Amino acid sequence: MSYYNNRRTEPLPSEDVATWECVAQDCNGWMRKDFATKDAPPCPFCGSEMKTGTRHITALKNNNLHK
Ligand SMILES: [Zn+2]
Repeated sequence: MSYYNNRRTEPLPSEDVATWECVAQDCNGWMRKDFATKDAPPCPFCGSEMKTGTRHITALKNNNLHK
């Protein structure tokens, strides 16, 4: 059962996605534009402005997102 569990090297699918990135240097807040409800939303964590950006992230099929 655990024979090949230690070395799972199969590549996960990933993609470039458009994001909003928090401008505060001490905040890692960001969100996918897909999930933003309006243009240039405030950071959900600290309320600062968000700037547009992109991230190359794993295309997750579940809701295991970083909070
Ligand atoms: Zn923030």
